[in-house]
Amino acid sequence: EALDKGLEKTKAGLFSKLTKAVMGKSTVDDEVLDELEEILVTSDVGVTTTLKIIDRIQERVSKDKYFGASELNTLLKSEIQKLLAENNSNDFENFEYGNHKPYVIMVVGVNGVGKTTTIGKLAHKLKLAGNKVVLGAADTFRAAAVDQLKLWGERVDVRVVAQAMGSDPASVAFDTLQSAVANGEDVAIIDTAGRLHNKVALMNELTKIKNVMQKVVPGAPHEILLVLDASTGQNAIEQCKQFTQATHVNALALTKLDGTAKGGVVIGISDQFRIPVKYIGVGEGINDLQLFDRQDFVNSLFK
Ligand code: GDP
Repeated sequence: EALDKGLEKTKAGLFSKLTKAVMGKSTVDDEVLDELEEILVTSDVGVTTTLKIIDRIQERVSKDKYFGASELNTLLKSEIQKLLAENNSNDFENFEYGNHKPYVIMVVGVNGVGKTTTIGKLAHKLKLAGNKVVLGAADTFRAAAVDQLKLWGERVDVRVVAQAMGSDPASVAFDTLQSAVANGEDVAIIDTAGRLHNKVALMNELTKIKNVMQKVVPGAPHEILLVLDASTGQNAIEQCKQFTQATHVNALALTKLDGTAKGGVVIGISDQFRIPVKYIGVGEGINDLQLFDRQDFVNSLFK
């Protein structure tokens, strides 16, 4: 239900247009396909992914002469479902964090995308699931980032490891993991600075943090979670490009889906980067982070 509400704007944008495009048409002709293409692109599905979807629909239409415009909805839904299935696992629900102790999540992303909020919500979620969680404030570049993380720590009642502003992020990460091991904590979530102005510097900093983590927990970080603001559409895609070049991102969180009609970006990003979307943010509240479920997502869009 929160998902339905969160996707309201995307759904309204996408589907009112889609309905208009096929209204009064009996078959799917080039004109309908052109309109569909435009609708997908303006919903931030992205050009490459849109063309892929249009190609598949065209193929289907050419095989079935009597394919009606009214069936377009169903076909579009199934094509989007297939695209999402190619890159997204639905196994996160049963994921055993306990296989790694601590399971280490390094969170990356540009400032303002909702990184801190996502970390707070995630800590809450993991705690409710019975895990002992610790947060590491390795975004030492901004005092506000450390303070905000501490606030979330208080709100969800998890420990936060922090040092003075400007201290070495790798040292914070090291401290966090060392104390996590000592305390028997199950999950350590490390916040990092989201400065993108210099890709080499970003790469070096993230590599340094990773190397230091591995001295304490071999194999860490198990997850490099990139947080992207879905409401920025194509900007999110650009950030994804930059961060995937700088480090080995293996999970995505897409925030602020509730405020935007650009929810199609979930489909485009997952297709272009072949990295699973693990979480979606559908509000500012503590419970507004959901594990991404591709079926629920598509069902909600096409409801
Ligand atoms: P950071 O700079 O990346 O750490 O960003 P913050 O976590 O401070 O978030 C920036 C703003 O986005 C805050 O006002 C958050 O409440 C808001 N925010 C984060 N996630 C979501 C979301 O899923 N939905 C909405 N509507 N707002 C969000």
